[in-house]
Amino acid sequence: MKIALICPNLGNYRRSSDAMPPLAMAVLAARCGQHPYVFYDDRVETIPESLDADLVALSVETFTAHRAYQLADAFRHEGKIVVMGGYHPTFLPEEALQHADAVVRGDAEGLWEQLLLDAGRGKPRRVYQNAGLPGLAGVRFERGIFAGKRYAPMELVQYGRGCRFVCDFCSIHRFYGNELRMRPADELRAELQSLDRKRLLFFVDDNLFSGEASLQALLALLRPLKLRWACQISIDVAREPALLDQLAEAGCRYVLIGFESLEPANLRQMKKRWNHVSGDYLRVARNLHQRGIGIYGTFVFGYDHDTPDTIRRSLDFALEARLEIANFNPLTPTPGSLLYERLRDEHRLLSPHWWIDPQYRYGDPIFIPRGMPADTLAQACFEAKKQFYVWSSITRRVLLGDQPFSWFNLLTASTANLISRREVYRKQGRVLGA
Ligand code: SF4
Repeated sequence: MKIALICPNLGNYRRSSDAMPPLAMAVLAARCGQHPYVFYDDRVETIPESLDADLVALSVETFTAHRAYQLADAFRHEGKIVVMGGYHPTFLPEEALQHADAVVRGDAEGLWEQLLLDAGRGKPRRVYQNAGLPGLAGVRFERGIFAGKRYAPMELVQYGRGCRFVCDFCSIHRFYGNELRMRPADELRAELQSLDRKRLLFFVDDNLFSGEASLQALLALLRPLKLRWACQISIDVAREPALLDQLAEAGCRYVLIGFESLEPANLRQMKKRWNHVSGDYLRVARNLHQRGIGIYGTFVFGYDHDTPDTIRRSLDFALEARLEIANFNPLTPTPGSLLYERLRDEHRLLSPHWWIDPQYRYGDPIFIPRGMPADTLAQACFEAKKQFYVWSSITRRVLLGDQPFSWFNLLTASTANLISRREVYRKQGRVLGA
């Protein structure tokens, strides 16, 4: 059975050099067994109109669902078996099954092999789902599938799955369940030693601070390897200056932190009150910068205590803190999150299936906020992004930042700013699937 693995884009267009290699596809490739496979990334290359494959597997997120469904319909029309996995089909299997023959819910390991076996016999089930959460021993990634494709110069790695928190807008918990699972240290060490040391590593874990003991164990493993890496991490890691020292000593160069909001009432509503346990945001930023760690700060707007003024003040903070990168996003209710269910139940969604609504454009308001008109929310977020990436801001934040000087950090921050500046304009207003 010939297999085609496909990572769909937001629409039928290609991106240039900022896409990250999709690690989920490397999981599937490593488990295709005897079956020959090809991999196409719709974000960086054109998918041939006719595929030499018997089975097509698509990894689908909410923003790529429309495009994935279009591709799936065309492949099924040609008589191919179409399979979908990832966040969106996990939360909305019935919707995905209108375009696919089978859906894999949650972790693919084990289920993917069973599906291939069933499909080979001509009898794939409609839904594949694990009864419990499989351990992460033996998780493998076939990174050879990324060779020759134009990706950002990064190596993606994974330490564990799951998060300790349950933020209102996030669906991680529902996808990965209540347990935190870590990969065995010896397997991770061997994998890290095999990667290109010149590249920045990026831990795809949704929150690398899975707990003090497991983070310490990872840092102890990383320290002697002398790698440079980035990660997504919860802000409570900054509570202990000694832990920040250890992060820096282990090679951490960038962290993505969800600051989300400056308003305590909003943090309470999003179940992220703990975001202030490390004290003042400005002090957190300084503590990270002093250790040579750059910051990608993310903010969401549209909670009940947000107004145009809270968006402006967040932008002011991001500029004052000289965050290397920042994103100012309107709150996006995605299936699988508590937020989506709450807004749906309160009849505040402007389009309950916005991801397949042909009228929806990237950046459009999705729900009715309480503190300002929906259009004002969308426009104020777009303005904040534009202001953050004006040339004078980039120069001040990147060239005159408060970090100890490092060529590596300077180059990566400059490149990331150029890419982010371009992306602000490229995505806005784009019709999903087009
Ligand atoms: S800390 Fe991050 S990954 Fe964890 S639940 Fe909150 S938003 Fe999701």
